[in-house]
Amino acid sequence: MSRLLLTLMAGWLSVSTVLAQSGSSAMQTGSTATQSGSLKGFGSDASAQQSLEARFDGYLDASRLGERLKIMSARPHHVGSPGGKAVAEYIYDQYKRFGFEVRIDTFYVLFPTPKVRELEMTGPTQYKALLKEPALKEDATSGQSDEQLPTYNAWSADGDVSGELVFVNYGLPSDYEQLARRGIDVKGKIVIAKYGRSWRGIKPKVAQEHGAIGCIIYSDPKDDGYYEGDVYPKGAFKNEYGVQRGSVMDMPIYPGDPLTPGIGATKDAPRIDRKDAINLLKIPVLPISYHDAEPLLKSLEGPVAPEDWRGALPFTYHIGPGKTKVHLKLEFNWDIKPIYDVIATVPGKDFPDQWVIRGNHHDAWVNGAGDPLSGQAAMLEEAHAVGELLKTGWKPRRTLVYCSWDGEEPALLGSTEWVEQNAATLQQHAVAYINSDGNGRGFLNAEGSHAFEPFLEQVARDVTDPETGISVLERRWAREIINATGDKAKELLNKKSFSIGALGSGSDYSPFIQHIGVPSIDLGYGGEDPGGEYHSIYDSYDDYVRFKDPGFVYGVVLAKTAGRTMLRLADADLLPFDYPSLAKNIKTYSTEVNALLDQERESTALQNKLIKGGYYHLAADPKTPIAAPDPKDEVPYLNFAPLQNAVVGLEKSSTHLNDLLSKRLPSGDTLQQLNTGLYQAEQQLLSTQGLPRRGWYKHSIYAPGFYTGYGVKTLPGIREAIEQRYWKEAQDQIDLDASILNHFSQYLDKLGSTAYPQQ
Ligand SMILES: [Zn+2]
Repeated sequence: MSRLLLTLMAGWLSVSTVLAQSGSSAMQTGSTATQSGSLKGFGSDASAQQSLEARFDGYLDASRLGERLKIMSARPHHVGSPGGKAVAEYIYDQYKRFGFEVRIDTFYVLFPTPKVRELEMTGPTQYKALLKEPALKEDATSGQSDEQLPTYNAWSADGDVSGELVFVNYGLPSDYEQLARRGIDVKGKIVIAKYGRSWRGIKPKVAQEHGAIGCIIYSDPKDDGYYEGDVYPKGAFKNEYGVQRGSVMDMPIYPGDPLTPGIGATKDAPRIDRKDAINLLKIPVLPISYHDAEPLLKSLEGPVAPEDWRGALPFTYHIGPGKTKVHLKLEFNWDIKPIYDVIATVPGKDFPDQWVIRGNHHDAWVNGAGDPLSGQAAMLEEAHAVGELLKTGWKPRRTLVYCSWDGEEPALLGSTEWVEQNAATLQQHAVAYINSDGNGRGFLNAEGSHAFEPFLEQVARDVTDPETGISVLERRWAREIINATGDKAKELLNKKSFSIGALGSGSDYSPFIQHIGVPSIDLGYGGEDPGGEYHSIYDSYDDYVRFKDPGFVYGVVLAKTAGRTMLRLADADLLPFDYPSLAKNIKTYSTEVNALLDQERESTALQNKLIKGGYYHLAADPKTPIAAPDPKDEVPYLNFAPLQNAVVGLEKSSTHLNDLLSKRLPSGDTLQQLNTGLYQAEQQLLSTQGLPRRGWYKHSIYAPGFYTGYGVKTLPGIREAIEQRYWKEAQDQIDLDASILNHFSQYLDKLGSTAYPQQ
């Protein structure tokens, strides 16, 4: 799975829109302008590093990358399948050839696969859903039905339910508010929701919270089908039979093996009972194609759906409920399966105890040429080039660790279990974790720990975009300027700025950054392909070479980008962390949560006034009445002063540290202690108790949203308490985050005074 892919599928939302939606400001102003040629962390002469990178680039080969992609995508290779084991063994063998030390770390995880899948409409007419994607002659691997996982949502409950059907739009909390105003209750009913606008697992979670007994999720042609463009195999959009598989585990509570929360799922690990896993659903859920959704939706009666709920199927969309009844029966094999994390290392020659970690998953829902093999093949090509450098006698100063994860698709299983198993060791040794996932033609997408912002700007400055010939940084800027409006566009033109997004979830960085505070980066290219194949049998080699990255040139670009990131972190004298950049972003988030409370207060007051004055009633069409919303509690004022003061303190401490770092480089052990202190700083942003109701997530600045799934919430403790209207909790979280930031500032002060005792 990949958040990048989902973002792209959401209709080419601009970077600024995506960032604004996810609660971070779109264009934070620039990090210190980078001088062409300088490299952060390499002092006055970076020429040796630059020539190393030029040699590294010379070893990258697009056709070899494409061959590996073809081999690994030849058969379905989901968790626990023979194909999955074969891909892990192939990757192991490749790392061996590159001259890496390789091992396979095996974990034993719960992984449900379907045993019974039945969906039928029982009234007023009969329809039995196909639940099957047909083979296509244009797609060579699409006919491997013996090995393909059928269309399903992993972690759906077993269930045999019958009930009236209700259309719930995208199945978000706000959609249920609309239903309530129309007097429609989903209690005891089965809901049908569209894919999109949220991570899929949120839809059944919210349906269950509202008392639904079953949930169907379908792909409407308006979102990624014929309404948008030609469908597969003619074009890259979803055809009428395409189905998006995917996990519906409540990963915003905790990811990984549901039976071993917080610990590695080794063979003998203590396991909880499945019924006690709080991140598993209690209702059955099934994804279907629009071929199967059409008769169900067409049959619905009741109120006409609001305009923004309607899709592109050729009839009037109604909400129900009524005579339309469906029967949904699902049973799963709840087996424990082995998963294979392939871990390949190159020991550092100077600082073997400082690890720079790279990762991409290798498991797929089916053949997975795009997700995840395009990223995996690029990472292997990157490792291949590192191997070629090793042959010339070069050795990294720090240890390189390349991780090919298993089990990402169901629940970030391979990375989470590995991180949980090795948490204490990683907190000592891990300098950074660099992730990638599916990759394709287009624009650089970079998210991560904000202390890396200026460092990543230099990486992007030094990689050329193959479609335009300018740097990938310039190309990204161009798009941001074009997508910006009014003053923002002018501001961007005057001052080119580079900002990275905050990490939510959706790929393997989650356990590193959010559970144990290892600084993390997610890199990928995309934005020029609609992704209609996502998690279907059509995510194949044939689809990939036609639509996603013909010639594999963007695979090579990803290898250059992630490879530079790895090589610079491995060889820098001084690790390129820039804490003023983090402080600047936290200041923005602090301003945002404060403004959020004010907006909430004003909109609540206005709405209560409208309700009281009877305006909703007067404005409604008496023939199709829509009730007024229920009045809400008034929003109190909260005390943000502790947070605001802590942010000012952090700006001072981080700037002071940077001033010291820019003076001169300490030597010997002092430098190494300083570097260790710099990479462990992010751990100071963890809280011991974690977020309310989901203590696995310990980072106080970044978390996936409780009701958005992949989408990030920054300052999540405060932001979500305000969104959920838990006012006391919001104040407690403000005070908690303030004390974490104060402690963080003291940590940076101490780091500076220890490394520069005379200052
Ligand atoms: Zn993926």
